[in-house]
Amino acid sequence: MERKNKKNKNYSNKKHNKDFSKNQNKREKANQSLPKIILDSPICPRCKQPIQELASALTDKKTGEPMHFDCVLDFLKASENLEATEKITYIGQGRFAIAHFPTPHDFRHFEIRKIIEWEEKEKDYEWRSNIANLFSKI
Ligand SMILES: [Zn+2]
Repeated sequence: MERKNKKNKNYSNKKHNKDFSKNQNKREKANQSLPKIILDSPICPRCKQPIQELASALTDKKTGEPMHFDCVLDFLKASENLEATEKITYIGQGRFAIAHFPTPHDFRHFEIRKIIEWEEKEKDYEWRSNIANLFSKI
């Protein structure tokens, strides 16, 4: 009796695996023309969660490792003592600006109070050039 049960169990496992690989094959066929890119998800040093979207990540200044964009923003919001009329905006190339909006809800008129150079402009961060290398092969 025991033996019979064991056999049944093996059978159902096998069937499951077979179905799985069938689906896998189908998917591979659909993507045939594009190369596969597998990126490891690094762990964000601030929130300890994996970083799925490396393309939008920034560099943690302390470690040189990637960090969530939102985590950098949260860090800046917490450390910059913003006034109610001020907002932090990403302005590109690893830089943020603290913008002052004199009229509430009018986001067209503002003045830049401070530029925060979060990433060093001239520096090539290793994690980012690794990604660039991967995509250059396409
Ligand atoms: Zn994070």
